[in-house]
Amino acid sequence: MNIKLSSHRPSANLTDTEARTLAQPVTIIILLLNIIFLLDGTLQIYHQNPLAPKTLFYGLLSLSIIAALFLAILPSPNRYANHQTAIASLAAALLGCGLWLLPEENNLPVYALLTLMSAVIVTLWERKTAFIFILISVIPVSLILFIFNRLDLSTLTKHISLLLFCSGLIETIFRLKQTMRARIKRLEILNNFSRQIGTSLESEQVINLVNAALQKAIDADSYYLGIYENNYLTFSLLYDDGEFFSNLKVPLAGTLSGWVIAHQKPLFLPDLRSEAELEGVNLILAGQGRTSLSWMGVPMITDQVKGILAIASYQPNAFNQVDLELLENLGQQAALALDNAHHHSQVEKQARLDSLTQVYNHGYFLKLLAEEAERAKITKSSLCLVMLDIDYFKQYNDNYGHLVGDQVLITLTQIIAEHIHLTDAIGRWGGEEFAILFPNTHGAQVYQITQRIRQKINNMSLTGPNGTPLPLPTISQGIAVYPDEADQIMPLVDLADQRLYIAKERGRNQIDPQPEHWQKIAQE
Ligand code: GH3
Ligand code: MG
Ligand code: MG
Repeated sequence: MNIKLSSHRPSANLTDTEARTLAQPVTIIILLLNIIFLLDGTLQIYHQNPLAPKTLFYGLLSLSIIAALFLAILPSPNRYANHQTAIASLAAALLGCGLWLLPEENNLPVYALLTLMSAVIVTLWERKTAFIFILISVIPVSLILFIFNRLDLSTLTKHISLLLFCSGLIETIFRLKQTMRARIKRLEILNNFSRQIGTSLESEQVINLVNAALQKAIDADSYYLGIYENNYLTFSLLYDDGEFFSNLKVPLAGTLSGWVIAHQKPLFLPDLRSEAELEGVNLILAGQGRTSLSWMGVPMITDQVKGILAIASYQPNAFNQVDLELLENLGQQAALALDNAHHHSQVEKQARLDSLTQVYNHGYFLKLLAEEAERAKITKSSLCLVMLDIDYFKQYNDNYGHLVGDQVLITLTQIIAEHIHLTDAIGRWGGEEFAILFPNTHGAQVYQITQRIRQKINNMSLTGPNGTPLPLPTISQGIAVYPDEADQIMPLVDLADQRLYIAKERGRNQIDPQPEHWQKIAQE
């Protein structure tokens, strides 16, 4: 299916339809004023006023052309946007002619026209064009009247008042448009943020999106996203005065953030110099260490997440209610997304683990083994694999029950974990057979470790459900070294497995190969 994408147009600008709707009432009034002129001119002819034909002629000419211009432009103002200055200047020149040539008493409708048209122009196009329009309408005619000695004080006052009145109107409409644009831009940012955050499953991605949205939407000197953990606030994001800070955490007690998290309510402090004291709060400086004068923070609370999103400024009264609403919205969505990300990472983590013993499952262990072998190849280091199996475990289960058997499996993995480094890994190969991976380690070292594990198992204490001591199982282990003894993963697993069965054959509760093997290898 072909989807035709519309060409990009900044949506903060008015569409033709919107511009038309806004300018329509004023345009209709402009046309009505034309009709008044026509009637006025006709009445004057009837009363045989000597200036009547002139009034009718010039009035009609300038005003109809202006009306025609508007009728042509109004259906699609954006199309004429590139020619706005020329069109506005032409309309202004014609209206100026009206002011010059029409008798003084007829000027009032022209004033009204000028005012309304400046409103239409600033609505459709830019503020600059509207100012050009009123200046060209009024200044040249004032000069001409002055040159011909017809500019009396009352006309000058009227012209100046007209300029001031129109300027006020233009400025007001311009600011309304600005405010509307700013709101639309924020909505767009929020909309984008919502769309992207809905599909974010990583915390880091969520934080990046929050950062991008805050940068674009709010003019703050500092902002942060902090997560509450063990009485501390850890900053996942901290921006202050042009700089990002990482790995910072502060005690939460007595801070504004602490207040927001404890009360689960937003807090908006427009001017920190004059704020009423908040119970139990004293100000803590993070980041650049300067004191902010405006502060705003919203809670981010879900089942899994407890945190805060806050902005600050070194200026007092830097933020308003609209900022607070935006921040609340960002905070709520970010909290949900972080909750999702947390949940997702838990599910991912759980999917890698064996549910009974919480060590890696077969699939993930194999993946790790492949990655570590690749790394060992690149770094030209060796890697050891141990295969470990409980001796006569079937019999053990038969004698003491499956539940006791399960407990033995859990205890065994705990003992192994106590004897290895964080960089090593344990996997449940299947049943009562485990695999241990030792990156960057030699066979002789691993032999020592497996011996210690074996001895610990021989000496541990094991009790049954009713507290009675149970006989201890023993374990057998086989070791193989990559890449010295096998330079592929599966042959490495096979070799460790074969050696495990050699250990079993030799009488169990032992390890193969024995120390002599490793001494021989070391001497080679
Ligand atoms: P060997 O010394 O030759 O390894 O003898 P074995 O009895 O340990 O070997 P075998 O493979 O015959 O039996 C493995 C036993 O491990 C069978 C099963 O009852 C037990 N087993 C496997 N998985 C679990 C488990 O999750 N929980 C419990 N309790 N037992 C398990
Ligand atoms: Mg066994
Ligand atoms: Mg077995």
